[in-house]
Amino acid sequence: MIESGKIILKIFLAISSIIGVTACAGLNESDNNKDMPGTVAGLHGQLKVSGTMIVDQNGDSVVLRGMSLFWSQWIGKYYNKNCIKWLRDDWNCTVIRAAMGIEPDGYLENPTAEMIKIRTVIDACIDLGIYVIIDWHDHNAHLHTDAAKHFFRQMATLYGDKPNIIYEIYNEPEKISWRYDVKPYAEAVIAEIRAVDSDNIIIVGSPTWSQDLDVATADPINDENVVYSMHFYAASHKQELRDKAITAINRGYPIFVSEFGVCEYTGDGNVDYQSSGAWFDLMDQYKISWCKWSVADKDEGDAVLEDGADENGGWTDDKLTESGKFIKSEIIKRNKAEFGAQN
Ligand code: MG
Repeated sequence: MIESGKIILKIFLAISSIIGVTACAGLNESDNNKDMPGTVAGLHGQLKVSGTMIVDQNGDSVVLRGMSLFWSQWIGKYYNKNCIKWLRDDWNCTVIRAAMGIEPDGYLENPTAEMIKIRTVIDACIDLGIYVIIDWHDHNAHLHTDAAKHFFRQMATLYGDKPNIIYEIYNEPEKISWRYDVKPYAEAVIAEIRAVDSDNIIIVGSPTWSQDLDVATADPINDENVVYSMHFYAASHKQELRDKAITAINRGYPIFVSEFGVCEYTGDGNVDYQSSGAWFDLMDQYKISWCKWSVADKDEGDAVLEDGADENGGWTDDKLTESGKFIKSEIIKRNKAEFGAQN
């Protein structure tokens, strides 16, 4: 693209951002609208928390299972409708997590570019009748409170009336205080969302990379549609962390595993089938929804795609990594049993 073209594009994107319109041409065609019978969001509609479970518009429990995309600023090519449709149709995903990268080189520096990516995925999920997690993918969100408040107020205004939307306001706090850092941040951002959207579910992270559920649920958030995230990497995190989840559940709080891996905490290493099996048993037993990390063709164990896998989906088995083949079968097995064939 010539330089003047770039300038015109930048001006267009800046204006689009200001008025809250994205350049997602084609995404308004409702070829698979949520209101159509047969889609998951069409059948289950508005979700809410009931005790330790997520229930649908009829009060029946629902377990969502799907995939998290990778940090949007680094592997943004899979943030497109064709890819999401493939994950719905071939993988039976009922939820997609759009992991909008905040820093470095993310939303804080390039808000328009990242906004376009995440809105492309949100609009695709709404059109395709599945649920979508709007993830503020950040390890320092409590230092970016004003930006997060602004962003989530915008999201709630644009999408708060859609049953498909789930907000995840803080991916993974690190070793900071729940009481003095994470909880005040969460309360401030939740207030922004609730000023506009009174009901959609909000996922709240906890310190130590969203593992300190025992700490968070000892001093919980006062909102009836909050769930607590639990992140694990099966080769690194085992019974000690499962016990934290059980502690939270026994106190009566719901959990959403909005990100997990079947390899090591770094996202790399080998698949640990035994530990993964124990985690699946726990999530099945307590009806915990989950998203697996991640839709990426990066050279690491928990990336589900081989290098160069097409950004539009259509992946044959030889385009899936070992963890990719494993998780695809685990999603299909459970979601077909729960929701039946979607298409
Ligand atoms: Mg709402």
